[in-house]
Amino acid sequence: MSRIVIVGGGAAGLEIASLLGRSVNSQDEVVLVEGETHHYWKPRFHEIAAGTFDSDLDSLCYFSHGAKNGYMHYQAWMTDIERSEKQLVLRKPNGEVDKLAYDYLVIAIGAISNDFATLGAKEHCLFLDTPAQARDSWHQISTLLRSGKERSINIVGAGATGLELAAELAKVSAKLANNPYAATLNINLIEAADRVLPNSPLKMSQQAQKRLEEYNVNILLNTRIASVEAHRMTTSDGKILAADVQFWAAGIKAPDWLKNIGGLQSNHANQLIVEQTLATTADPSIFSLGDCAAIPQVGGTQVPPKAQAANRAAVHLAKNLVAHLEGKPLKPFVYKDGGMVVAIGHDFAISTMMNDRLVLKGRLVRRLYDTIFRLHQKTVSGLFTMSRLIIIKRLKCMFKPA
Ligand SMILES: Cc1cc2nc3c(=O)[nH]c(=O)nc-3n(C[C@H](O)[C@H](O)[C@H](O)COP(=O)(O)OP(=O)(O)OC[C@H]3O[C@@H](n4cnc5c(N)ncnc54)[C@H](O)[C@@H]3O)c2cc1C
Repeated sequence: MSRIVIVGGGAAGLEIASLLGRSVNSQDEVVLVEGETHHYWKPRFHEIAAGTFDSDLDSLCYFSHGAKNGYMHYQAWMTDIERSEKQLVLRKPNGEVDKLAYDYLVIAIGAISNDFATLGAKEHCLFLDTPAQARDSWHQISTLLRSGKERSINIVGAGATGLELAAELAKVSAKLANNPYAATLNINLIEAADRVLPNSPLKMSQQAQKRLEEYNVNILLNTRIASVEAHRMTTSDGKILAADVQFWAAGIKAPDWLKNIGGLQSNHANQLIVEQTLATTADPSIFSLGDCAAIPQVGGTQVPPKAQAANRAAVHLAKNLVAHLEGKPLKPFVYKDGGMVVAIGHDFAISTMMNDRLVLKGRLVRRLYDTIFRLHQKTVSGLFTMSRLIIIKRLKCMFKPA
């Protein structure tokens, strides 16, 4: 009998737990260690922050999902690995410390925002790293929206996270425009590079910027934040940007405590360095994937930290582990980038395809964006459940009282 322990039930970890839970022999055991009770799809955290997320239909409870899909949910946070004993050190929600033995360990704990040690950012900015932070953001935004006055929001970072958040907040504010008690939101999207979506093709950045400007988002390019205080930010050239609420969405890294955990090798962003098989370089029984892993590709590139890549690596590793338990060799993970899709509000998205040669935009592309989430839902819960959820959501939108 083998026990496979997966740490982190996000885009990658939940898929592996579900796929393995449904396919390993009954004598093998699959355990998902995750500190949260419910799974939320991280690329939709900005919707939680803007109050537009449907938690009834678009989240799932790990405990009951595990019972139906052949894995056990252990609600705890991993804090350390004792590799010589092949066990994890865990902290339960009540603070108790426990240990859990593994035969194979998969680390998929994701990433957190990188504030690049900017003075005051940690204390005075909101982050969208966890569902609790996203909910807390909504509580602050909700109060702001009800103030009936002109209010400002600073968002640092015009990558996918910052841009999607700015667009969602702008759309919510626009919807409330005729309400005499609603605030008018001035949204500042602040980016150190010379364009939004700096890691995407130029055409995509231009289209995204145009759309955001139509939503009245104030885009500040070539603007580096030097320090943050309560209700204001100071740029590197001394300009003050006042705001009622401030978000930090510039860059990501794996958490500091992951660096060299249990003697495993990690890089400058604290990501665990793995082989192309997704096994860590120092220990063939420990695997890592998703945003917390540095996954090499042929030609010296690295798999990008995005949901699509996390999902594909998860499906690959699940198959690999099943084969490995049957004594077969591990196969390398080859990532074929299917392009990038960024949602700008609920009815518009922009995407790149064909190795960034083609840029598409519009309502249909927004459906494509939704498809990525639906494919994740299909992997974790099956085609039947995914289809039911789509139908229920459509009906709910049609018949829900305003
Ligand atoms: C607002 C926003 C918008 C985004 N938009 C896009 C987009 O449009 N397209 C795209 O491709 N990507 C997008 N991303 C990035 C995408 O969400 C990530 O690349 C993806 O979720 C990474 O998957 P993962 O499984 O590695 O980590 P995650 O999905 O972050 O999951 C990590 C899990 O590990 C758990 N965990 C953390 N620490 C521990 C611990 N110590 N012990 C146990 N469990 C732990 C967490 O609770 C979480 O459930 C967006 C991200 C954000 C925040």
